[in-house]
Amino acid sequence: MERISHWIDGRVVAGNSGRSGVVFDPATGEQQASVDFASIEEVDQAIAVAKAAFPAWRSTNLSRRAEVMFHMRELVDANRKEIASLISKEHGKVLGDALGEVARGLENIEYATGIPNLLKGGYSEQASSGVDVYSIKQPLGVVAGITPFNFPGMVPMWMFANALACGNTFILKPSEKDPSASMFIAELLKQAGLPDGTFNVVHGDKVAVDRLLDHPDIQAISFVGSTPIAKYIYETGTKNGKRVQALGGAKNHMLVLADADLDMAADAVVSAAYGSAGERCMAISVVLASEAIADDLVGKIEDRIPAIKVGPASEEGNEMGPLITGEHRDKVRSYVEGAVAEGATLVVDGTQDVPAGGFFLKPSLIDHATPGMRCYDDEIFGPVLTVTRIKGYDDGLALINANQFGNGTAIFTRDGGAARQFQFDVQVGMVGINVPIPVPVSYYSFGGWKASLFGDTHMYGPEGINFYTRSKVVTSRWPDPRTSKVDLGFPQNR
Ligand code: NAD
Repeated sequence: MERISHWIDGRVVAGNSGRSGVVFDPATGEQQASVDFASIEEVDQAIAVAKAAFPAWRSTNLSRRAEVMFHMRELVDANRKEIASLISKEHGKVLGDALGEVARGLENIEYATGIPNLLKGGYSEQASSGVDVYSIKQPLGVVAGITPFNFPGMVPMWMFANALACGNTFILKPSEKDPSASMFIAELLKQAGLPDGTFNVVHGDKVAVDRLLDHPDIQAISFVGSTPIAKYIYETGTKNGKRVQALGGAKNHMLVLADADLDMAADAVVSAAYGSAGERCMAISVVLASEAIADDLVGKIEDRIPAIKVGPASEEGNEMGPLITGEHRDKVRSYVEGAVAEGATLVVDGTQDVPAGGFFLKPSLIDHATPGMRCYDDEIFGPVLTVTRIKGYDDGLALINANQFGNGTAIFTRDGGAARQFQFDVQVGMVGINVPIPVPVSYYSFGGWKASLFGDTHMYGPEGINFYTRSKVVTSRWPDPRTSKVDLGFPQNR
């Protein structure tokens, strides 16, 4: 049985806590590996190594830091398939989807290659007579990233690329359900020329996470995962004086107005709801269908579902793999099974005739879902799409804005005025106009509103650079010694 251990100080370090987790093959339901769970002492060891590596890495000049990121860009590009296969093997998503994940993660490494430009400060000459004022951005020190199971390659790349390029050293605590991609990434960073100790991986559960939250040498924490844990990380980390950005769960609504191209809308929603078996924080899980077109739209979605090929990622041609664990599959199934009793209509039941073995479900479609029903209110995080019928724009907007989450949303319409009004009104962090999964490119920033984000900064892009740096403002005078005199008045611009 394969054993996955920690990565500390540029090498694999076997865990000695005596505790470990099971890594399943979700396509068969069998265990395929075990992963060491770090003890408090092991987390402390990784933090000590990262702290010791910080002074040299922060002093490394910007050209060299950019060069390491350029090397890493080339290595990830050359190893796309290898990384995607590791993701696919442990997560279960099909290879094409995993390759897409790697491509979107790689964008963040490409962005970080521009670090000499990104860290430029401001400069004001002659702010006062003979006085210049300028700002500089400095790294924080040792920072940590805690990541979810659903993007084991991309989400770590959202974090470490900018964190390292800014001059920080990094501890990654990846999801214990699919830990291998992070180990491969650690090896690539070493090959790229990153000094040992600058990037470390500790595997584990709450014990490791709580130590990162408590340890005085961790300056900042980036978290992506479910809302209850995001809230816990934010509250505990900030109480301990750390900078925290904690991205949580989602319930993304797609508003389809009566004038939309219904075939386009149906294609988009089927792709966005069932891709990656719905285990995406930007998946569309609710369609708000205007009454006038709702029957047509539901019919078009229903027509497309039987064509979706569900099966193991290892079999070419499959489009949707299994869910991550048996426990999660059962939870998702319970929403489908309970929908009719809640008063909704089950149009397509994806709990039947599923592929044998593994944690499979097929796509489900639930119509007439309304607020107050579990299937509408909760984040299901599986291949289940609900439809809520609305009178029109105002009705749909009110539902989106009343929702506890505010991660992503989309409007499908041919009316530019309505789309612009939607962008103005909607209380959601990432908005698509005829785009179902509006994940921002790496030179913008990613993040939701409301219960989808705890903290003030979104992840990656310009906000990522701000998160991983502290600014300092220097007021400087090189006076002419001939003009020097004592002056007890308050400094003014004169
Ligand atoms: P999760 O919250 O269960 O786990 C995330 C991380 O937290 C993992 O590393 C895990 O080991 C750790 N963790 C779990 N329980 C903990 C506890 N009690 N104390 C301390 N640490 C704990 O999330 P998940 O199931 O891995 O991922 C799915 C969730 O992540 C969904 O809710 C999804 O919407 C969300 N997500 C959000 C975004 C976003 O950008 N907003 C992106 C991807 C996933």
